[in-house]
Amino acid sequence: MSDQYLVEADGLHKRYPMADGAVEALGGVDLHIERGAFVAIMGASGSGKSTLLHLLAGLDRPDAGRVRVAGQDLGSLDDTATTIFRRRKIGVVFQAFNLLGMLSARENVALPLLLDGVPRSTALQRADAALGEVGLGGRAAHLPAQLSGGEQQRVAVARAVVTDADLILADEPTGNLDSVAAGHLSDLLRGLHARGRTI
Ligand code: ADP
Ligand code: MG
Repeated sequence: MSDQYLVEADGLHKRYPMADGAVEALGGVDLHIERGAFVAIMGASGSGKSTLLHLLAGLDRPDAGRVRVAGQDLGSLDDTATTIFRRRKIGVVFQAFNLLGMLSARENVALPLLLDGVPRSTALQRADAALGEVGLGGRAAHLPAQLSGGEQQRVAVARAVVTDADLILADEPTGNLDSVAAGHLSDLLRGLHARGRTI
């Protein structure tokens, strides 16, 4: 182990058993990502990118192989401990935003902190700061349905960074955005990288 790598994945295998035969999504992937890196994983649709990201985020478990994030072997954590580790250390941004429709932008961003027991007033203050960081200071009270797609995705990025997560994992984060909003989102991720996040 070395502190140089924030992500160390070794020998990852993942198969999805199906009635008409298993799909081999990952057939032995090794990936080491240095702390502070900005890495893009490219490949054809169906080549296993989302599967890999899910394993790196601890959202799913490999059939074989090992994932370490910030020195922590995810395989040694049970589901609850994995959820807590991810909430504190890894920010995940999905193509489909995955915001809760009943909660305001501010509450969506505060949620990982509230689930972690941070007092509500502190959590909401930090959420407002994170919304400011993504340029949405004026939209804190809006529900997701009252935001554009690009704005919703920036709320999702704010939720990913509000915890001071070391690692931000984004799965085709611009896939549902028009080209202008996609450009803003890319600039936002580059800015987070420039300020020290590993993307
Ligand atoms: P990508 O993100 O690169 O498009 P995925 O990781 O989503 O690829 O999928 C890799 C392969 O695994 C694909 O062939 C896909 O059909 C299959 N797959 C993904 N998720 C599942 C699942 N939950 N059950 C069965 N097969 C799946
Ligand atoms: Mg995918």
